[in-house]
Amino acid sequence: MPLDLSFPDNLRVPDVEPRIVAAVALVVPSYIVARKLLRRYLVSKYTIVTDLDSIATPRKKGKHAGTAVICGGSFAGLFTARVCADHFERVIVVEPEAWTFTDEAKALPAFSTREVKGDTAVYNTIAHKRSRIYQYTAIHVYQAPLLLFARKAFAGFDAIARSWGFLIAPSAKNVSFSGYAVPEPKRFGTTPQGALFGPRRDLEPLTRKLLSDTCPNVEFLYGTVDGFQLNKNAVEAVTVRLADGSATSLECAIVADCTGVSSLGLKLLSRLLPSLGNIPNLREEYNPNTAYSTLEFPATPKFNEGLRALNIPRLDGRGPLDTDKEAAFFVYNPDPEIDFHFIALIRSNSDHIVFCMGGWDSDLPVTLDEARAFTKEAKFIPDWVFKIFDLLEPVADQAVAVQSRTSACWKIRFENAGKILPRNFVSMGDATMRVNPRFGQGVNKSVIGAVTLDGVLRRIPVNSKSLGPTFFNRLAARTNNIWDSSKHADYGHPSVTPAAGETNQTGWFARWFRSKLLPSLSRNDTAALTLYELTHFLAPPTDIFSPSILASVLREIVWPSPKP
Ligand SMILES: Cc1cc2nc3c(=O)[nH]c(=O)nc-3n(C[C@H](O)[C@H](O)[C@H](O)COP(=O)(O)OP(=O)(O)OC[C@H]3O[C@@H](n4cnc5c(N)ncnc54)[C@H](O)[C@@H]3O)c2cc1C
Repeated sequence: MPLDLSFPDNLRVPDVEPRIVAAVALVVPSYIVARKLLRRYLVSKYTIVTDLDSIATPRKKGKHAGTAVICGGSFAGLFTARVCADHFERVIVVEPEAWTFTDEAKALPAFSTREVKGDTAVYNTIAHKRSRIYQYTAIHVYQAPLLLFARKAFAGFDAIARSWGFLIAPSAKNVSFSGYAVPEPKRFGTTPQGALFGPRRDLEPLTRKLLSDTCPNVEFLYGTVDGFQLNKNAVEAVTVRLADGSATSLECAIVADCTGVSSLGLKLLSRLLPSLGNIPNLREEYNPNTAYSTLEFPATPKFNEGLRALNIPRLDGRGPLDTDKEAAFFVYNPDPEIDFHFIALIRSNSDHIVFCMGGWDSDLPVTLDEARAFTKEAKFIPDWVFKIFDLLEPVADQAVAVQSRTSACWKIRFENAGKILPRNFVSMGDATMRVNPRFGQGVNKSVIGAVTLDGVLRRIPVNSKSLGPTFFNRLAARTNNIWDSSKHADYGHPSVTPAAGETNQTGWFARWFRSKLLPSLSRNDTAALTLYELTHFLAPPTDIFSPSILASVLREIVWPSPKP
């Protein structure tokens, strides 16, 4: 029997105007392609994700014959030197801290402790030798880009880091924003997962060691940068005061200001270029009035056993937390309009556990008993957190504590002064922007600066007058959101002194939007993934206005969720 290929009546394709078919056939794919292209553009403009691909690959036309002078040898300086090692024949890192030139500063630290008589108790603190970095032993956490950069920059990074006691673990699962659980995304897709966990006092020496072992064209000079010599629109040389009091001058193809809180670049250039004083709002500053204490304990085998037995539940309700694999057990971030206590409980490395406590206008616990009392005052704290305090009782006398206060955050808008600045001057890390450490973003901000410079140096000739301006414009696009979001969140607390021309009301929309977004995270996996990506600087800030997230926010406005 011949096959009957005619459609049954109910499947007959309706007659459609061919021009409509053609239009749909053109419009739909064009829309999809345009959306993809737009997102690719936004990702490369607002994040370092695209630039990360090129890190540590050879420069196309070979290295530039000149010297890159890096002022400052902390995170921003070390990362920038690593990047410049691929672009310049010679890289010189100038650093005034004598101790950083010792073998001890390239190895796992073995610092002793010293007793401190605090206002409320006597406690032990680590007697470190990095005198110019006062937060050297304070808790530090890092987002994903640091690990992505380190893996590219230093071959075999994971194994080396692990041998130093660092942990590479999923980033915090048990995060609570004023009682709202921030769920881990169910589907990560291609989003990189995992972050590095380890104390800053280990990470800085590790980075210094890897840089000196792997980049023979990087030199370290013990001295203090105290001047720039300008020629036309470039810094021709950097003057350095050496340890014996003499001065030397280093000719440079590029100069990177990585001097952290000293913000040396702005100081030196303001003297040489008085017109910088005419740039409106070149430097913005506010006082977040926050303080944090770090309380670190040894994580003994008995402690780990006890922790396992607690069966800590995941805040997103997806079973117990695997405390052997996870590094972060609890991170409580308050809405400053509701509560001021910030509390984090993480493994600082393979054999230490650390509590970080503080907040706006906060007291600073330095003993286990004070930490317990502080935590009792906070809202939305699960009972099991107090059981962890109990587990630490046997090692309470081995705790080391660090107190730190932050009374100034600033941003320097070098991007507004592109026409005045020397073409070969760049600045990154805390030298251009210092944010409230409560979200732990400073080290990744230094990574963003170094990777952005790498991307610029791959596209723009070193002698081009657009080098500096392009760098600052790109850096601003990638870091302005860090500044605005942490500043606007801080303004929610009445003790915060806003920047000139702003009030505590400034940023109300961001705070309101967040208050509507948080309750919807557990229902909307796109929102959970977007928040994860934004927290880790892996997506453009515009992603937060995706239709699915806006729909969730709208739903929250119309049908508000019960308060936690
Ligand atoms: C309490 C606290 C907690 C923090 N927690 C975190 C966290 O959890 N996660 C995180 O990512 N960040 C955190 N930060 C921020 C982080 O520590 C900084 O962002 C980071 O150190 C910035 O690195 P940097 O290289 O830009 O500057 P710095 O580390 O300040 O280094 C500047 C360097 O420049 C050198 N220098 C100064 N003057 C000169 C000169 N004239 N010539 C040459 N060299 C000079 C200094 O000696 C120093 O080595 C925290 C900060 C604080 C205060």
